[in-house]
Amino acid sequence: MTAESKDDNSLGLAADYKPLKLEQEIREFWIKNRIREKLELVEKDCKGVLGYVEGPPTLNGTPHIGHSRGRVMKDIRYRWKTMEGYYVPFWAGWDCQGLPVELEVEKLLGVKNKRELLEHVGMERFIGECKKVILKYHKMWLEADSRLGVFINQEKAYWTYLDEYIEREWQILKRAWDQNLLEEGHYVVAYCPGCQTSLSSAEVGYEGSYKQVEDPSLYFKFKVAGTQNEFFLVWTTMPFTIITDTMLAVQPEAEYVKVQVADETWIMVKQRVEPVMQDLKITKYTVTDTIRGKELEGTRYEYPLKDIIPKQAELETQHPLVHTVIGEDFVDVDTATGVVHLAPGNGEEDFWAAQKRGVPVFAPYDDEVKFTKDAGAFNGVFARDADYPVVEELRNKNAFVAVKKVKHEYPTCWRSHHKLVWLARKEYFLRTDKINSKVLEAAEKIETYFDEPKNRFLAFLKEGKPWCISRERVWGTPLPMWTCQKCGAKRLIASKKELLASAQETVPIDFELHKPWVDNITLKCGECGGDMHREDYVLDTWHNSGAAPYARFTDEEYKRYVPTDFLTEGIDQTRGWANSLLLEHIILTEKPEAPYRAFLFQGLTQDAKGRKMSKSLGNIVETNKLLEKNSADLCRFYMMRKCPVIDFMNFDMQELNKRPYQVLSTLYHLSRFFLQNAEFDHFQPERYRFTGNKILWDRTLIELQPADKWLLSKLQETIEEYTQRLETSEFNVAMATLENFIIETLSRLYVPMIRKELWTDEPETLERRQTIYAILHYTLKTVTLLFNPATPYLSEALYQKVHKKLNPKLAESVNFESWPEPDPKMRDKTIEHEFETLFTTVSLVYAARQQAKLKRRWPLGKVIVVAPEKTAASLKKHEALFLELVNVKAAEYTREVPDYVGGENWVSATEGDAYVFVSGKRDDKLLGEGIMRDLARRVQALRKDLGYVPTDVLDAVHIAELDDDSMELLQSYLEEMAELVRAKKVYLHTKRTEIDTEWHESKLDGKRIYITIH
Ligand SMILES: [Zn+2]
Ligand SMILES: [Zn+2]
Repeated sequence: MTAESKDDNSLGLAADYKPLKLEQEIREFWIKNRIREKLELVEKDCKGVLGYVEGPPTLNGTPHIGHSRGRVMKDIRYRWKTMEGYYVPFWAGWDCQGLPVELEVEKLLGVKNKRELLEHVGMERFIGECKKVILKYHKMWLEADSRLGVFINQEKAYWTYLDEYIEREWQILKRAWDQNLLEEGHYVVAYCPGCQTSLSSAEVGYEGSYKQVEDPSLYFKFKVAGTQNEFFLVWTTMPFTIITDTMLAVQPEAEYVKVQVADETWIMVKQRVEPVMQDLKITKYTVTDTIRGKELEGTRYEYPLKDIIPKQAELETQHPLVHTVIGEDFVDVDTATGVVHLAPGNGEEDFWAAQKRGVPVFAPYDDEVKFTKDAGAFNGVFARDADYPVVEELRNKNAFVAVKKVKHEYPTCWRSHHKLVWLARKEYFLRTDKINSKVLEAAEKIETYFDEPKNRFLAFLKEGKPWCISRERVWGTPLPMWTCQKCGAKRLIASKKELLASAQETVPIDFELHKPWVDNITLKCGECGGDMHREDYVLDTWHNSGAAPYARFTDEEYKRYVPTDFLTEGIDQTRGWANSLLLEHIILTEKPEAPYRAFLFQGLTQDAKGRKMSKSLGNIVETNKLLEKNSADLCRFYMMRKCPVIDFMNFDMQELNKRPYQVLSTLYHLSRFFLQNAEFDHFQPERYRFTGNKILWDRTLIELQPADKWLLSKLQETIEEYTQRLETSEFNVAMATLENFIIETLSRLYVPMIRKELWTDEPETLERRQTIYAILHYTLKTVTLLFNPATPYLSEALYQKVHKKLNPKLAESVNFESWPEPDPKMRDKTIEHEFETLFTTVSLVYAARQQAKLKRRWPLGKVIVVAPEKTAASLKKHEALFLELVNVKAAEYTREVPDYVGGENWVSATEGDAYVFVSGKRDDKLLGEGIMRDLARRVQALRKDLGYVPTDVLDAVHIAELDDDSMELLQSYLEEMAELVRAKKVYLHTKRTEIDTEWHESKLDGKRIYITIH
């Protein structure tokens, strides 16, 4: 045994590829030698700058494998572009504020909602707790990034809650204010009663927000004023909105009818009579009259709940249209009754219908969506809890028709899953609808690599709704708007300095740009001298992260790094970060430009069975837990290789140690094989270089063998293809390209062709051996560099332990190497085609052999190739290699199948226009050689088991208890065998007892034999 195979120390390459141990060692190497830090120092002499801004993870959750997938893509891009010579400001960033953090702290403190929170805990302590929570998660993220090998600069991270960041975010608002794009207004917004805040329209459409819910399906009737028994028939799934009802709407162009049901007349749209009656199980009815929708306009109806909601009676005195029928085109006559009740306090279309007629909006709700005293008898009831009480009241007032339960898809809050309620509220809006054409123009120019996400992004942007940016919460960037209590004048503050200079109060030392501190500051009104108070809102957290390109940089950095070059986040960010970045950048610059050139949207990550990862299913794969026991390189390679970026990825831990391990371990073992041989022959990489298709060794020009030329040509193709696929973000195809080169081209095809040439240690063949080392060295080093972005640990390990070991003058880390470029002079497409023919024919011969159970190791006498001229020409050109690969002594090429191949001694195989025929007849010579090769293979395996390295020369090989025939056949091949297994001599023994040694049992053609080596 050699010293090295015993020794598992960190300097050498251990006999087995154990990635976890290797990664620990490399991680320490990076830290100790400050490799990441040094990598960032290249900005001064780089070939260009590629701007980057981190999509900040929200610090309210444990990093999981879905996050890791995206982070690996970012890291791949960073390492690769850096090797190409670019400078990338790959700096971290953290999204710190917003509801998710608040909700966690509320839970932690044991309070149920905002009101309890402010009463029991107080704002200052609450803010302190929010900061503690984000620091807790920050630690986990640092650990995950470190384990995963993400080379992001953590020291330069931005934090969205810091004053410096907030100030710059305010400056974007200032730009909006100056362009009249920031407005206060009453609008109907989606409101979550659980989170007690409004949501933006982007948030309402989030993946998974729509849930199957159960609601009442209610038919009710409003009596036509001044009649005894004429009613409008109406349907709703939200009975509570009858409390805020102010009008009915019909479709002006549609035909309506009066339907006689018992002693009542119901008015509804004609085309819905049958289905509605069926639904109501009413069989006896008659249509008595037909009226156009238009004619119904202006009809008054008796609102039935006036006595218990006195405010409703008051409303009638405020506007003549309250409780009358209006005509609206949005009324759908294909569902329900074609008569729609309008509650402008609870519906977007209803709201606009009231707005344009000047009808008052009745929205008697508090922050918990409970009715206020304006709702009379319903005072204090939560909106959705009022559904059945309303039904009961309608029953008492003869306004009830029927109620059932209906299951339907209804939008819920994406965070807390409460059913959303649409409410008219005072909010602040960015009127992004006014700049929509610029937004669309900018979006068209963005590179997204795949069509589907771009279409999705554009479709969403086309909605062009105003962006509701105000939130009624605590832990967020304060809206910097102060309003005069006397004259209503408004002032937007754009910096801390401006605020402190204008404050009427003395500012405490611990002042920061958060509630409650900002709320304590009042300003003096410039118009009337009155007191100005801050509007009690914080900003939508998407506005925080959307400000990042401007807010995280200084002015100078902003000029250099924005627009950024390449961003990547989950597909759900079409409505999230990709959107807010775009809108804020256009507000800031007034130009139709995005702050990013390219945005790669990733599919989401699911569990092995294709289910969404969720707390309730318990199937979330946490990054830190995963990487405690699994290799980061394997995870990285696996995730990139598994499927296209845009696909949903099913993460299956069982798959990690299969193919990905095989690929990386093949690279590892090939490198180790090369190193052992090269060191044995004292190979020095600095002595060779390639000049076109030849090799210059010191001053001697050496010709390459066809197989060498073929390998080098394939390598050039791989470099080109791989780089190209990285450029188009087809990571899975890129990884497959590398995998194919390592497993097929290098390991399965090339190495077997040259292995025997490395077997000797004769001085005459040294030049050839050195040539092979040079080829392997160049190939393996190139591949190690190509692998670096994807599997940085393994690449660094091989770089240090193989390449730097042979040439200490190399750079300190693989990351400082230049990205390989294909050399067109090494590309030889002719030889690639010839070898393709060669390998196809070889496979045919193998297939033929297999039919007759003729092992590949057994030499055979003859192969006949029946094929077109071109195929034969390629084979003839490389005949020696061909014969060696198929292990046959002679070849014959024809265009027609010869007559004599029909007999039972021949086996054949065919593919396309080629046939091969192999003679299965074996004479004593062939049999002897076959046995020798069988035995040689067993000796090789034994050498490996006992820890001999390939270069060790054995003193002797002993083989015992072969049968007499085999002993005889073998006699003339003993010398060849000795050479093949790298031994000085091979001895045969009839009985094991002839020598005293430890025998290793083996089998030859089913019979027991014994081998020993030393
Ligand atoms: Zn919610
Ligand atoms: Zn004023």
